[in-house]
Amino acid sequence: MATIATLLQDIHAIVGDAGIITDERVAQRPNENWGKGSCPGIAVVRPATTEEVSNVMALCHAAGQVVVPHGGTTGLANGIQCKAGDLVLSLERMNNIEHVDVQGATIRLQAGVVIEKLQQTAAEQNLLFAVDWGARGSAQVGGMLSANAGGNKVIRYGMARDQVLGLEVVMPDGRVMTHLGETIKDNSGIDLKHIFIGSEGTLGIITRAVLRLWPAAPARQTALVACSDFDHVMSTLNHLKQSLEGKLSAFEVMWQNFYHFMTETTAGHPKLFQDEYPYYVLIESEFVDLARGGEQFVEVLEGLLENELIADAVIATSQQQSASLWAMRDDIEAMIERLSPLIPYDLALPLRHMEDYANRVSEGVAALSPESQCLTFGHLGDGNIHFCIGPAQDKAAVDDMVYRLMSEYGGSISAEHGVGLGKKSYLHYSRSEVELDMMRTLKRAFDPKNILNPGKIIDL
Ligand SMILES: Cc1cc2nc3c(=O)[nH]c(=O)nc-3n(C[C@H](O)[C@H](O)[C@H](O)COP(=O)(O)OP(=O)(O)OC[C@H]3O[C@@H](n4cnc5c(N)ncnc54)[C@H](O)[C@@H]3O)c2cc1C
Repeated sequence: MATIATLLQDIHAIVGDAGIITDERVAQRPNENWGKGSCPGIAVVRPATTEEVSNVMALCHAAGQVVVPHGGTTGLANGIQCKAGDLVLSLERMNNIEHVDVQGATIRLQAGVVIEKLQQTAAEQNLLFAVDWGARGSAQVGGMLSANAGGNKVIRYGMARDQVLGLEVVMPDGRVMTHLGETIKDNSGIDLKHIFIGSEGTLGIITRAVLRLWPAAPARQTALVACSDFDHVMSTLNHLKQSLEGKLSAFEVMWQNFYHFMTETTAGHPKLFQDEYPYYVLIESEFVDLARGGEQFVEVLEGLLENELIADAVIATSQQQSASLWAMRDDIEAMIERLSPLIPYDLALPLRHMEDYANRVSEGVAALSPESQCLTFGHLGDGNIHFCIGPAQDKAAVDDMVYRLMSEYGGSISAEHGVGLGKKSYLHYSRSEVELDMMRTLKRAFDPKNILNPGKIIDL
């Protein structure tokens, strides 16, 4: 078996000087969510091509060396966490966009491309890459696919998984599985790409992908509306889905405590309504023609006001106002700054149970952790609710309450952030014993030596 020093030398011979870091810059990399912690790995390997990834993995497989894939390190499940002696494999140098097919609306690219660059490249061709979220400036294609990220526009375009036409993956033993298909339809046997999407770097290293692009929607309308009860929130969602003819692209609900925190506790965000309401909803719709779309948007909101489904509304009249509404919804930093230690939750459950569940969690927090606030918000159009609870001292007790209650409603412990390390002990609340067994069987088949991101999602 190769010693660590020999292994690093052999890896150096594959990737060259630019492709490996072994000095103090390794510890400067994060090891936890929100860019926290210090990476205890022995080296960061930065291959530039699929062939280099393949050769590095073949060496690591032979040596039984643990490898932890890193993308932009913005994931929220501690999936990038290393132990001393682990090797980080970062895709950061694999950042080439290889081909844009404007007619076919597809893009082929390496997995280290940052999401913002992908979005900009699509926009230059009057096309849209539709998955979008707050970490777009750092997160990479490989990380997005491994986490199956969702974000702000799932209601219209689906999640990361829904954008993938083809995938290239390097297996833990170094073999390369390439299926860079470019068509929406492909029933030529088992669709293996979906096994890797959402597998959080435990089954293979995503090196290239073909992604789907959409016609650009150059105009959008944004509004913040207030609702006086949860039934009205639900009816508003259903009404908008129908009356905006499929163009509803965001339906972000903020419970009163969240809105109050953003407008009263933190200085930055303006209070937009005179009265207080139990729910506020950020609504966005995309249009090809701003004038026609704008008229339709206003008409639809007027209808909602007349029917008393919404109690009040503010429509953004400029890009700046729209950005300011989103800034309030996305102000994670304000929560981290004021509520740490903060526990973020990312759950999914049927909409009919959402109000009841949120109330019970809020009561549970008051009983278990009276010093904490429980801010509630979510991509409700997708059945996805977030809680940010803090400052919380007894994380285990709060976790247990939140996940146990969720299981009573048949929901999921993770709607979009993944399982990683933090949630794996609660996975049985969402997945049956047979499903967990199948996950272990897959892991053993793909990675018999358990060298790729071991201990994430499931233990063997
Ligand atoms: C401010 C903020 C807002 C966010 N908002 C949302 C949101 O609204 N919706 C949402 O879904 N998510 C959101 N996220 C989390 C989101 O999951 C991540 O931003 C993104 O998916 C991870 O991309 P990354 O490149 O940073 O991956 P990393 O964090 O580096 O890695 C994530 C996981 O993928 C693995 N991995 C990385 N690259 C590869 C690869 N090439 N092959 C195999 N495995 C790999 C890692 O080992 C790890 O397990 C948010 C994060 C932040 C910081």
